[in-house]
Amino acid sequence: MVELPKAPKDAAAIILLQHNTNPRNPEVFLVRRSEKLAFLGGFHAFPGGQFDATDATVSVQHCPDAETATAISCAARELFEETQVLAARGGEALTQGQRASLLDDLQSGRTSWPELLQHYELYLDADDFIFAGRWVTPPFSARRFDTWFFLVHCPPKQQARITDDGELQSGDWIAASAAYTRWQRSELLAVPPVLHALKTLSGGLADNPLDMVGRFLSVPHAHRQPVRRIEFRPNYICFPVRTPTKPPATHTNCYLIYTADEILIIDPGSPYEDEQQALAACINDLLTEGRRAREIVLTHMHPDHVGGVNTLRKHLGDQMKVAAHRLTAESLAESVRVNRFIEDGEVIRLEGPPEIHLHAMHTPGHARGHLCFYQERTGTLISGDNIVGLGSVLIDPPEGNMRDYLSSLQRMRALPNLSVIFGGHGPAIANPYAKINEYISHRLEREQKILQAVREGATTPRDIVARVYTDVSPRAHAMAERAVLAHLEKLRDDGLVLLSESGQVQRV
Ligand SMILES: [Zn+2]
Repeated sequence: MVELPKAPKDAAAIILLQHNTNPRNPEVFLVRRSEKLAFLGGFHAFPGGQFDATDATVSVQHCPDAETATAISCAARELFEETQVLAARGGEALTQGQRASLLDDLQSGRTSWPELLQHYELYLDADDFIFAGRWVTPPFSARRFDTWFFLVHCPPKQQARITDDGELQSGDWIAASAAYTRWQRSELLAVPPVLHALKTLSGGLADNPLDMVGRFLSVPHAHRQPVRRIEFRPNYICFPVRTPTKPPATHTNCYLIYTADEILIIDPGSPYEDEQQALAACINDLLTEGRRAREIVLTHMHPDHVGGVNTLRKHLGDQMKVAAHRLTAESLAESVRVNRFIEDGEVIRLEGPPEIHLHAMHTPGHARGHLCFYQERTGTLISGDNIVGLGSVLIDPPEGNMRDYLSSLQRMRALPNLSVIFGGHGPAIANPYAKINEYISHRLEREQKILQAVREGATTPRDIVARVYTDVSPRAHAMAERAVLAHLEKLRDDGLVLLSESGQVQRV
């Protein structure tokens, strides 16, 4: 089944510059999103959010068109809601206390954004909002936005501080160059438009705002062109390719880990020619800069992770090695030639700078030969399909094994200083321990419910699905039955149920 990516929703964000900031080293207000958020939880970002129905009813002075006016109105409202900064003309007459009570009225729904502006004779002026590009979230994410970015100088005498609505964890003024350095040191995660803004501002502010706009718009992605190469963390390129995968995912992440000398390619999964060409072009760019491709590595044997291996090997030259776990190689014997086995505990050392040591971990459960890769220095885990940034992980026996899966998850949770998980699908995960705990408790809860259903007389996986998977659409019931079987096999091995060859189940 091939699912189409979701259409992006309109959104706007503000790159807030400190009042009277040093133009050579400008400071921006950078927020950290709460780790609890489903979308980009734990990422650093700029204040912003989705268009609201009332945004379009606000009139904006000196604005060329209605669409831009709506985006400015949304950006200003989100900025106010998230940081208490009111980027409206006339706002200087209000005290800090008055602004706080206005915000309270807005958030409690006592007043709307247009009413608030009108009542206090405030107005938005497009001249205060410098357009800094429009970026579209790539289709590998379930939640996608078409986001307008604006540069805004914080009005004098207003203090930016995040409001306590649980969405943001912190917000601080920081020199854009310092924030960019923190990203280079793997200390923070940011999406491409945020990174682009930090990098652009690191060069200082231009005297002329139009020059500044030119710098922001110098890349095609700032004009809504698709972002292909995503560098959440330096030296790790996430390159999602379209694959026939399990919905809601539509793409599989190929990872290109590079140093000054070498490139390691993990899971080139697309069987589609246009996608294979896009990936090859990205690898070519890295090669032209003087690197050599070291090898192609596979996390596991599923078709959506290996569909592009043979074509890529041909592209890179037939001597290009493919490495995987022995069990993966066995499963792929008919379709992909694996030259080298990777065992648990092997360290792949990429020549630097920077030197990158990846520890291979044999982590079966989703597939028998599944491998994860961990870089201790930066706390980076490539998790394959054991943990994903989108959708759920299917444990389908006999390739899938629930007991193994839970011990693999526990092993990953025991890794020291994990700071990010790069999964086989969806965006990076910036709250690794919370995510792994959520995975483990979700499975254990399901197991308890299944055991309960058996105690209450359910005798087949189908029976159990009908009782337990009430939150899953009937379309997905066949897959749910496979997952139930995986749970039952674990319960059998734990000595809690009896399971016949034909899948009939009994309590012990
Ligand atoms: Zn898989």
